[in-house]
Amino acid sequence: MTTVKDAADRVPAPTVQDLGNGFYTYVQLDGSWGLNNCGIFVGRTGALLVDTVFTVSRARALSKTLAGLTDKRVHTIVNTHHHGDHTYGNFAFPDAVVIGHQRCREAVLATGLETTKWFPGVDFGEIRVMPPFVTFQDSLTVYCDDYRVELRATEAPAHTNNDITAWVEELGLLFAGDLVFHGGTPFVVMGSIEGLKRSLRSLQEYGASTIVPGHGTLCGPEVIRDQLDYLEFVQDLARTSFDAGVPPLEAAHAADLGRFAEWTDSERLVGNLHRAYSELRGEALGTPLDYDAIVDEMVSFNDGRPLRCLA
Ligand SMILES: [Zn+2]
Repeated sequence: MTTVKDAADRVPAPTVQDLGNGFYTYVQLDGSWGLNNCGIFVGRTGALLVDTVFTVSRARALSKTLAGLTDKRVHTIVNTHHHGDHTYGNFAFPDAVVIGHQRCREAVLATGLETTKWFPGVDFGEIRVMPPFVTFQDSLTVYCDDYRVELRATEAPAHTNNDITAWVEELGLLFAGDLVFHGGTPFVVMGSIEGLKRSLRSLQEYGASTIVPGHGTLCGPEVIRDQLDYLEFVQDLARTSFDAGVPPLEAAHAADLGRFAEWTDSERLVGNLHRAYSELRGEALGTPLDYDAIVDEMVSFNDGRPLRCLA
């Protein structure tokens, strides 16, 4: 029998990729549930992080990696959205100013550690929830030494109702958060398909040459098109099955994912269809759904196996 630990042993150790000019990305493959990327800037007075990680042991590993890059402290954390894999590790950097969207703060406080219940095999450790305490609504400029980094709220809701991107225009470098999954299935259950499509179209206008996705390996702007293609696939499938009165789980089972089948976490289709149905019913974008029930259906889609989280 394969245990969670055996499976965890098979994920590669996180790696650091040097993007030049003091910027790095910390990549946790395979990018599936809970294995996200962080951005790092090492400057004259310390380090800035774009997002942290899901568990205490992963936060320790991130901290150790940072110690290898600089002997200075992490003075700033930018959270791209409230999800636990991007925020649970905040507390491991107690000297840092934590920045996020105002609704990110609210969502971190409202959801606390509730995500952990969906990943019963994961040892999270003793996490202390630490929400952003410098917040903004539309945009905020942060300087990484002399580099201007624009934190911009995107169309909301998209992946969540509090997504922001970090854009270093001078370097064509975009930290996209979970608006972009490279090699993973987009997840819009807590956001909006229409909203994410609009957000992605606006990201295409940035003219980024390098994108650090929320999950998966470093990529270029062409990956945005793949995300849009998937969302259109979900909407097409939803339209047909919704009209035929077929529930999302059944529609997902019957669907041919085609090229998207190679992406991790394909069971997200079930949840994404629930979101698409909500939009077809004409509900306000981002209307809360029954996430526990949706997770149960995703588990059922996987023949009863818990969501595969190797964090
Ligand atoms: Zn997320």
